[in-house]
Amino acid sequence: MPYEPVLLARINKPNSGKLEGYRADGGYATIERALKEKQPIDVTTQVKDSGLRGRGGAGFPCGLKWTFLPKDHPGPIYLCVNADESEPCTYNNRILMEKDPHQVLEGIMLACYAIRSQKAFYYVRYEYGDSFRSLQAAIDELYAAKLLGQNILGSGFNLDIVLHRGAGAYICGEETGLIESLEGKRAWPRIKPPFPAIEGAFRKPTIVNNVETLACVTQIMKRGIDWFKSFGVPPDPKNPRDAGSYGPKLYTLAGHVEKPVCVEVPMGITLRDLVEKHGGGVWKGRKAKAVNPGGLSMGFVDVNAPLKGEDGKTEYDIPLDFNGPGRVGCLGLGTAAVTVIDDQTSMIDVLHNVCQFFSHESCGQCTPCREGTGWMLKITDRLRRGLGRKEDLDILIDVGDRIGIMPGTTICGLSDGAGWPVKTAIRKFRAEFEAAIKSGAKSKYAKSLALAGSH
Ligand code: SF4
Repeated sequence: MPYEPVLLARINKPNSGKLEGYRADGGYATIERALKEKQPIDVTTQVKDSGLRGRGGAGFPCGLKWTFLPKDHPGPIYLCVNADESEPCTYNNRILMEKDPHQVLEGIMLACYAIRSQKAFYYVRYEYGDSFRSLQAAIDELYAAKLLGQNILGSGFNLDIVLHRGAGAYICGEETGLIESLEGKRAWPRIKPPFPAIEGAFRKPTIVNNVETLACVTQIMKRGIDWFKSFGVPPDPKNPRDAGSYGPKLYTLAGHVEKPVCVEVPMGITLRDLVEKHGGGVWKGRKAKAVNPGGLSMGFVDVNAPLKGEDGKTEYDIPLDFNGPGRVGCLGLGTAAVTVIDDQTSMIDVLHNVCQFFSHESCGQCTPCREGTGWMLKITDRLRRGLGRKEDLDILIDVGDRIGIMPGTTICGLSDGAGWPVKTAIRKFRAEFEAAIKSGAKSKYAKSLALAGSH
């Protein structure tokens, strides 16, 4: 049976963003029932037992995160909604915010009830003007209907939602960078611990959740744990630490596909099926060469490389669950933003573009990240100009290895994310890089810039 979307079920309805339409589809009945029939701990338990893992990138179990708040804290406790969706080619949260904002707002209400928070800060990426306007209109409707404010639905539960416009930088999506920015400061990530659950926004216990995660909370509370667990991939029995990859997921497709689109399918769809069936295949009748499976920081998949232990399959056949990309040396599923690179594109140009991005977005607090991303940019620039040296490839891998948070040299994960695409591109496409260095030719894009007189 084909999968029937739930998270995106309403997005094509006329006036899908309006309160009236949402209520006509059963909206806000779930929070009403929760306020009447459930204690906050019941909501936390249901979300925890569903196995919901955060959809923002790290995949941390959502309900478990809520339990990290200090017990019996006098308050205030805050919820921060991370809508600073800045990972290139990622737009699943934008679709939800623009087209069905009330589904996410109901998830916020449920989450705040569960964690005993009376104030949520909704931090929206600066560039998302339409999302901001759609959310503001939806929040205004809720206040007018007395579904926000004091004594909601006569339950004694109070909640205010404050919409906050982001500061236009990638690092604002890092949870402590977001909190700093929310407080009116430069978005410099904080050294952890303390983690936000203990000391977050305005130094109070804070939970930071992603938009799609909160939409899933609405659906889990509405449809139940069994429904959620009937989709996706259960935990690997050989790995006691694996929490599985349950539920539906929004994947965005971009790059060299016929049909860039945001689709909702059960977790675990293969990369090949996603691109071929939902993206209409690679554009212009070409073939795929590489895929970035979940945002730039995840690294690259070589679609022609054999998949270890699976006869006849290639890396193109990895499942897009929380474990799949890791099987082929990528960092993880990330934001599930899939970017396809066709066989006529230079990996040197791709990598230079990636390095430009991370060098620009590094906040500059940590020397290894600030300097390392700059060095990687300079070396890839040299490569694309046809001035690369043989040793440059190993230097790039070495820098990528040394600047990450894993060796403990930096405050946040941006530097790790900057190193992963460099390491995977060179390890998987080394022959292409070596041939370019040997020939001394400019890369395709560098040649076109030279022709245009700007390089
Ligand atoms: Fe800033 Fe990079 Fe350090 Fe993160 S790792 S805090 S982005 S300098």
